[in-house]
Amino acid sequence: MATTSCDVAIVGAGLGGCFLALLLGRRGRRVVVIEQGPSIPSAGADFLKPPGLRVLARHGLANLVERHGLRRDIIRYYHDGEPIKECRFPDGGFLIRPYKELVELIYASCAMEGVEFWFDADIDDIAVGDDRVEELTLSDGRRLRADVVIGADGTKSAVRQALGIEQVTMPYERLLMRVATVPLTASVAQLNRLYFSSDGWLAYLYPLNRDQARVFVGLPPEDDKEIFQDGIPALIDELKKFVTDSSDAFNALQPAKWQLIKVSSLRVSAYHKGNAVLLGSAAFACHPMTGMGMSYTLHDAEILADVISAAGGDAELLDRLLYARYEPRRHAHRQLIDYGDALAATFRDRDAYLAAFRPDLHVYGVAAAPAELPVLQLT
Ligand SMILES: Cc1cc2nc3c(=O)[nH]c(=O)nc-3n(C[C@H](O)[C@H](O)[C@H](O)COP(=O)(O)OP(=O)(O)OC[C@H]3O[C@@H](n4cnc5c(N)ncnc54)[C@H](O)[C@@H]3O)c2cc1C
Repeated sequence: MATTSCDVAIVGAGLGGCFLALLLGRRGRRVVVIEQGPSIPSAGADFLKPPGLRVLARHGLANLVERHGLRRDIIRYYHDGEPIKECRFPDGGFLIRPYKELVELIYASCAMEGVEFWFDADIDDIAVGDDRVEELTLSDGRRLRADVVIGADGTKSAVRQALGIEQVTMPYERLLMRVATVPLTASVAQLNRLYFSSDGWLAYLYPLNRDQARVFVGLPPEDDKEIFQDGIPALIDELKKFVTDSSDAFNALQPAKWQLIKVSSLRVSAYHKGNAVLLGSAAFACHPMTGMGMSYTLHDAEILADVISAAGGDAELLDRLLYARYEPRRHAHRQLIDYGDALAATFRDRDAYLAAFRPDLHVYGVAAAPAELPVLQLT
């Protein structure tokens, strides 16, 4: 079967892969995106916070993603039923838009830039020689050669494995996450509420659109077996103990389909090797309660598009620019992962949670000097 050549091969059509493909396509690069699934993925991310919104605005995509999205600017936190904090997001707040919808918008924009997508593409072999990816071979025999190869293929990245880049994965095993989509009720439409309990539970309720809401329940693994495998008889009794201002949503929870989500953090030892680069969850993963993974990934894609364009096919220059401009992103990612770890360790403890909460990272996605911290209303 014939070999296809392109400037940039991107493995993975998630947010990172699609956004980078769009930016490079706009700059006239020939881009091929290889996706193992039949379509754009449907992961659990729903919140795009201000840093990510600003990246999209810089590339003329703000109106597109806002059009059917929902803006919110407050999250109210509770512990054992009592409100303990409100986090306010300035300048219009954050956007709620289900992951699949968001990525599909960017994917649709790629078509106008001539980006090629290969769906249902099963990678058989990634040939690495002289510390660079020489060729990708699919199980149907198709071959792809590219000046630059991007591993935007998620936490289990095949590109990362082929490059032999080391990883440290830390599952957040003490808190199993379940998510369901339910009809929207008045309390959820009014406010995003995130409840913690000293028994080690959490519940987060927020609207998805005018009709539907998402409910995240986090619980100790030993409770999960009892509650979710027996047709959820005890779920509402447990929630009643600490979910105080959202009881109108209880009726909707019982018949809901509860999906189990396994959450881990991920750190890797390098972000590139030769002509191959890791992006998004292939490079780092933090606790979802930071709500910042997509924002950082969008900014990383922006940096990568600049670097790849500036290198213009010069392998040595690409390597130097990646060291200078992309590898340093590991510091910001490490900080975010550490922050997510610190938050996750305090969910049971009101005072420890309040002490660990960082408005700079939570709202703005960057570490600020103490004098620059936004003022939070503490109730
Ligand atoms: C439960 C949960 C909730 C989250 N909530 C938020 C949130 O509210 N806000 C936020 O900013 N971030 C959130 N995040 C983080 C966010 O999901 C990630 O930052 C984002 O999805 C990263 O995008 P990506 O393109 O790197 O990876 P992914 O979306 O994981 O995409 C990877 C793609 O690669 C494909 N792929 C994998 N292997 C191969 C292969 N071998 N060949 C071809 N294709 C392959 C996959 O099918 C997939 O399409 C959350 C994460 C989790 C787990």
